[in-house]
Amino acid sequence: MKFILNKQIGYYTKETIKCLRLVAIALFIIFCVIFLKYNLVCEVSISGEVLGYIENKKAFENELQELVNQEGTNNVAFVDLPGVPEYKLAFVSNDYKVNDAEVFAKIEESTNITYKYYGITVNGKQKSVVGSLDEAEDLVSKMKKEYKDNLDFKIGIEEVYSKNSKDIKTVELAVAEDKVSNELQKMESSSVNGVYLAQKPITGIITSRFGDREDIRSFPHNGLDIAAPYGTKIKSATDGVVTTSGNRGTYGNLVVIDCGHNVEIYYGHCSKLLVNVGDKVKAGDIIAEVGCTGNSTGNHLHFEIKINGISVNPQNYIYN
Ligand SMILES: [Zn+2]
Repeated sequence: MKFILNKQIGYYTKETIKCLRLVAIALFIIFCVIFLKYNLVCEVSISGEVLGYIENKKAFENELQELVNQEGTNNVAFVDLPGVPEYKLAFVSNDYKVNDAEVFAKIEESTNITYKYYGITVNGKQKSVVGSLDEAEDLVSKMKKEYKDNLDFKIGIEEVYSKNSKDIKTVELAVAEDKVSNELQKMESSSVNGVYLAQKPITGIITSRFGDREDIRSFPHNGLDIAAPYGTKIKSATDGVVTTSGNRGTYGNLVVIDCGHNVEIYYGHCSKLLVNVGDKVKAGDIIAEVGCTGNSTGNHLHFEIKINGISVNPQNYIYN
């Protein structure tokens, strides 16, 4: 019994070794085939979507980092990758040509880059765009120094964003300065005591000028008459606050706007009044409609500017 058992153990051991040897040989052949036919590479995917295969993961990651590092340089505000790339080992057939650059290009293509520039605004309207905050600040402080004493304006800087660097036309500082300066000069020439007349209240035919003497009144005309059809919308020429909105004798239906800087503007003979006392208005806001109320012989707007309560010739500033 003992003898048989020993013999059996010997028999199985021999068989096992033989078997293992065969398995080893088989595995070796399989691995040889795999390594001959396939390459071990790195699979790149984003949100589960396989973008392709690369050979040099380290270099690939460095290149991605460079892409992201653009943020904060050369007017690049944000770099948004399509997602976080994931890497895993994969076998690809030997005849598959791995192209790292191609995979990178795919990521680059779907990366969103946002550019940032600096717009110069005058009274909230963009007048020019420069590339850097320093330039914008230089320009603003220079213009403030040059114009602030003579003119009431708000010059500011706004950030301008764009998905495409070519969409926004930035200019050199000197060009921007010229443009803004021209704008301010224009404002200066059409400003009353520092109040900018940004808007003609209506377009129409001037029927009576400041200082004209006419049968209809005993004193020289203290405003400018502009004829227009009944109901024509009247826009405020300036920013300001409504101090009168009602029927006032010879003026008929009248709106008076206090523009600050001791300047008031009268809009007379209106058919309809569309603002109330205390309303704040912006240049261009509709305040009334043309009519023929009060001492008037036809539909027209009586436009009168007063500085410190004294009427001045509106055509020194507007309709000139
Ligand atoms: Zn008049």
